[in-house]
Amino acid sequence: MKRIGILTSGGDAPGMNAAIRAVVRKAIFEGMEVYGINYGYAGLVAGDIRKLSVSDVGDKIQRGGTFLYSARYPEFGSEEGQLKGIEQLKKFGIEGLVVVGGDGSYMGARALTKHGFPAIGLPGTIDNDIPGTDFTIGFDTSINTVLESIDRIRDTATSHERTFIIEVMGRGAGDIALWSGIAGGAEQVIIPEVDFNMEEVAAKIQEGRDRGKKHSLIVVAEGVMSGNEFADELAKYGDFHARVTVLGHVQRGGSPTAKDRVLASRFGVRAVELLKEGKGGLCIGIRDNKIIASDIVDTLENGKHRIDLDLYDLSKQISF
Ligand code: ATP
Repeated sequence: MKRIGILTSGGDAPGMNAAIRAVVRKAIFEGMEVYGINYGYAGLVAGDIRKLSVSDVGDKIQRGGTFLYSARYPEFGSEEGQLKGIEQLKKFGIEGLVVVGGDGSYMGARALTKHGFPAIGLPGTIDNDIPGTDFTIGFDTSINTVLESIDRIRDTATSHERTFIIEVMGRGAGDIALWSGIAGGAEQVIIPEVDFNMEEVAAKIQEGRDRGKKHSLIVVAEGVMSGNEFADELAKYGDFHARVTVLGHVQRGGSPTAKDRVLASRFGVRAVELLKEGKGGLCIGIRDNKIIASDIVDTLENGKHRIDLDLYDLSKQISF
C-alpha cells in the first residue's frame, strides 16, 4: 500500500494529534503518502481531503483536541454514505484508512472493511470504553485532569467539613471515576458496573464522621446518575451538606500526558505497519503493555469493554 488516509471521528480526545503525527511520520518514513481527512466521515463524504507533509504534523504532539477536527455524521450509517466515502477515497488514490475514534467510529471503519476497503481503528476517547484494548488514547490525560480537581476540592472539603460529590464523565463506563477516585483518595467511588446502596453510602460517611473525619469525597460516574441526583438521593438518608461539582468538558481538553502521547504513537506506528502489509479490518489496542491488533468485526460484535474489577475491590479496601 502506497497511499493511506487518516480521520478523527466522534468525541475528541487528548492524544489524537499525537496519533495523527505518528501515522504521518511513520508512513513517510516507510516511503508512503498520507492524506488527512477533515471532520471525520462528514469530510470523507464531502471530499475535504488533503495531503499531509512532515511539517503539517509539526508542533502538534503537545496539543489537545484534533487538528483534523471531528464531527458526528449519522449519514455514514447508511450504505449510500459509505459508498460515497469509498468513491472519494478512490478519487484521491487512497488505498487504506486509519480511523481514530470511539466505538461509533469503529462501526464506520467496520462498514468500509465490509465493502472491501481496508480500514484500521485506533481507540481514541477519554471514556476508556472501547472493546479490544485495556486503554484508549485520552484516558490518562482525562484522569489526571480530574485528579487535579479532586485535589483542589479536597482542600476546601477539609476546611469546611463537607461531603463533596464529584460527577465525572465516562458515558456507560466507570473507568474515569475508578482511576481518578483511587488516585485522589476518594472515600467512595460509584460506577455503573457495580450496584450500590445509598443507605450504605450514607452509613459510610457517618462512620467517617464518627471517627473525626473532616470530609468525604464521593466520585460518581455519569453513567450511574448525575451528581445532583445523587446528592438529592443521599439527602434522604441524613444531613450531609453535600456539595456537587460537575467537571464536564474540562475532562476532554488539555495537553496530552506523556503516557497518552506514547500510547498514541505506538498505536499509530502499528496501524501503518499493518496497512503497509495490506492488512485492514483491524483495530489496534494494548493488552498487558503489548500492542495488539484484533479483527474489528469480531471485536465490535463479541468484544466488550471490561472495567478492572480487581481495582474496584482494591478501592473498597483502602477508601474509608
Ligand atoms: P465517542 O465515544 O468519543 O463519542 P464515537 O466514535 O463512539 O466517539 P459516535 O458519535 O458514536 O462517536 O460515532 C462517530 C461517527 O462514526 C458517527 O457520527 C458516524 O459518522 C460514524 N458511525 C457511527 N455509527 C456508525 C455505523 N453504525 N455505521 C457507520 N458509521 C457509523
